[in-house]
Amino acid sequence: MYSIKVRNPRTGRIDYRFEQTETEELALVAASLRDAQKQWLEGGVEMRCRMLLELAAAISEQRGSLFDALTADTGRTRETELEINAVISSMERWCRLAPELLAAEENKKTSIPFIEIGRQAAPYPLTVVISPWNFPLLLSCIDAIPALLAGSAVVVKPSEITPRFVEPFSDILAAVTGLAPVFRFLQGDGSLGSALIDHADLVCFTGSVKTGRQVAEACARNFIPAQLELGGKDPAIVTADTDIERTAAALCWGGMVNAGQSCLSIERVYAEAPICHDLTAAIAQEARSLTMNTGNIDEGEIGPIISEAQRDIIETHLEDAAGKGAITECGGRITEHNGGLWCQPTVLSNVDHDMLVMTDETFGPILPVMAFDTDEEAIELANDTAYGLSAAVFANDAGRARHIAGKLEAGAISINDAALTSVMHEGEKQAFKSSGMGGSRMGPASIRRFLRSKALIENTQLCRDPWWY
Ligand code: NAD
Repeated sequence: MYSIKVRNPRTGRIDYRFEQTETEELALVAASLRDAQKQWLEGGVEMRCRMLLELAAAISEQRGSLFDALTADTGRTRETELEINAVISSMERWCRLAPELLAAEENKKTSIPFIEIGRQAAPYPLTVVISPWNFPLLLSCIDAIPALLAGSAVVVKPSEITPRFVEPFSDILAAVTGLAPVFRFLQGDGSLGSALIDHADLVCFTGSVKTGRQVAEACARNFIPAQLELGGKDPAIVTADTDIERTAAALCWGGMVNAGQSCLSIERVYAEAPICHDLTAAIAQEARSLTMNTGNIDEGEIGPIISEAQRDIIETHLEDAAGKGAITECGGRITEHNGGLWCQPTVLSNVDHDMLVMTDETFGPILPVMAFDTDEEAIELANDTAYGLSAAVFANDAGRARHIAGKLEAGAISINDAALTSVMHEGEKQAFKSSGMGGSRMGPASIRRFLRSKALIENTQLCRDPWWY
């Protein structure tokens, strides 16, 4: 047995351990999930919706134990509250969407009068979901629930950094007896995630670009699809005609919620030169009003940095920027409180693309602001990145805003707001460049991406003469 120690982000102490699932068990687990999947699919979409709504209701009723575990995992309460609500509401939303999306289709006429085509949607029997630490429950469910609705069985390997929620969630799940045989959580580190890929028909991975590349390579070797949602370095472009106070507040929210530890955090701001100084000052003023939840976990907007490794990345970016001439407008330090690590809400000016803080994912509450002169320059700067997850444009002139947004190489662009993809689920979008690949998690594609199309091509004429000569 391999025991994994878990650090508490608020105290720095190891206060939790769990046993990693043995890789030898995986073949048996996969066989049992595949076996149960047949009945799950046969049961039909209405039955699957019923089961998942039962799970949503059970989460809602027993949210206390889940909330406590997620809070201990991440050291924050506000985002945990939002996370549990988001999981419940998204389950309900998918259950409303699925019956129509998965309804049987009538045969269609073709260009050959006596040949008809029927389409059958066949789910991947076993979907493996590998999830990150930053929204442990939400990012375990965001692929798992639509996959289950499509008719797959699902095994989730959550992050070893935030494993405490798995026990209460598995208890809640076990009580939904029809669902439990096709929905399992297995605990372990990256080696377990890697081993699980060999048992999957489809892998959904959310995490860093580095690991995503390893997952994609392993999936390619097995000829199975990989749906990848990876890191980002989201830019925001602000033109001179915007309302500075409102924009500063939106940018602070977009860049500092969850202490900047979100894939869709705003990590770079490009401000049109005439307002760059005032916007920077307004963002700094807004950032100074944010407090860290060091003492009372329920007070303060900024939670702890999740790990010492993450602290090292933030420190490296801050030191690199300072060494190359960046000016710290506010914050700029990582502080320790009772063993936990917090990064002060930080605004930097005098930055450029020679600095790591403008090119690499920082994952901290840090907003560097850089000036631009023309829209072309802003677009070029925003696109000067390996990432392409999401972006934001702030402009009072709607035509100009849409023009800039249309030129950005990213899957989702918020206009006159930040991180709208976190609250808006209708718009289909895909990750661009190194931020990922695969189908959209939003809109109807969120479920359709778990289905393969089977064409049933029927000769309805039944004549004896061969017709194809
Ligand atoms: P990570 O890549 O370190 O780990 C993610 C998961 O992969 C973990 O469960 C880990 O155990 C597992 N893993 C590690 N090595 C593996 C391997 N070789 N094979 C299979 N699985 C392996 O990422 P993290 O630090 O947990 O999460 C932060 C990253 O995730 C950031 O880059 C963030 O931007 C990104 N993220 C992206 C999205 C999105 O939707 N695009 C959402 C949240 C987080």
